Amino acid sequence: MSQRPQVRTVGFKPGERNVFFHILTACNLRCRHCYINPAEHGTQTLSLDKVSNWLKLFARPKQETNLILLGGEPTLHVDLPAIIRTAKALRYAVTVDSNGYLLNDFLTRITPDLVDSLSFSLDGPDAVVNDPIRGLGSFQVCTDNIRRAVRAGFATSLIYTVSSLNIDHLRKMPALLASLGIRRFFIQVIGLRGNPARESAHGRILWQVPAKKWLDLVPIVAENAASMGIHTIYPKVYLGVDDRFECAGMVAENYFIFPNGRVYQCPLCEDYPIHSYVIDNDKLLHRQGLTEDRFFPLLIPEGCVMNRLLQPDTISYHADGLPVHRISCCLLKEEIIPLT
Ligand code: SF4
Ligand code: SF4
Repeated sequence: MSQRPQVRTVGFKPGERNVFFHILTACNLRCRHCYINPAEHGTQTLSLDKVSNWLKLFARPKQETNLILLGGEPTLHVDLPAIIRTAKALRYAVTVDSNGYLLNDFLTRITPDLVDSLSFSLDGPDAVVNDPIRGLGSFQVCTDNIRRAVRAGFATSLIYTVSSLNIDHLRKMPALLASLGIRRFFIQVIGLRGNPARESAHGRILWQVPAKKWLDLVPIVAENAASMGIHTIYPKVYLGVDDRFECAGMVAENYFIFPNGRVYQCPLCEDYPIHSYVIDNDKLLHRQGLTEDRFFPLLIPEGCVMNRLLQPDTISYHADGLPVHRISCCLLKEEIIPLT
């Protein structure tokens, strides 16, 4: 009997540090589900000097730290190759999250050994599904650049943000990824932040996917991708009866840095001025008052307290008032590693 790849929950690891650094908020695209909120995150492009100083605040000399460089579109930053070289010198493992346009001749100005993962975003298996979400022509540009990156020897990954607009097309993604030579597949779930929060508030679109649909489909697609040799990661979202709830803000080190100096520990909070830390004059300061970290210790039957406060529509209840599912920390992942 042949073995099947096993799903495992990626628990929060003590000592692991992940730094999600938005080096600018500008972007060449206008995706419908964009979570960037310039009023809350700033509009500046950080200079190379500033980025270097801020990277030093989170680097550790004796231990590798994971760095995810984001925007906006990070390849719009003309100094991105120099930023990556600085980060590597500070012992960061570097991921670049791009919308696929790879601007400023990015691929020819950096070598694969300096980028631990080059991540592309696509939200459909073809232009018909992807382009109405991410912009006309974006499927073609992104897939062309994935092929170039794979040919040049970069380790590539792909992020698919699942929403009501594209969940029915997720099944086709593993075959596309395999044909493109992508090594890792990140399935994300839409968050009600930025544009989706505004559109939901106006009742224009129901972005979120029903629990049953998610639970019936996503693990099967992930298993299918793993069977094609693709390491697949997706958010847990719904905790089983025996699963323990943990808030990453209490047990892990995750920092979400924005160009205006705000540093959050929880991505769900990013539309609100409740960040735990701020960078002021190149110093990292812990803020006082009603900040996100005051909420993290609260234990509620629904699981994640911020989800309960900010996205209550995601929770359904039994007649006795108990939630049908507890919602996990949005940073808790399941992964399937292909059998070698
Ligand atoms: S590529 Fe990213 S930053 Fe740019 S509009 Fe799309 S979601 Fe927003
Ligand atoms: S998503 Fe919820 S559980 Fe995770 S860090 Fe934020 S508040 Fe904590």
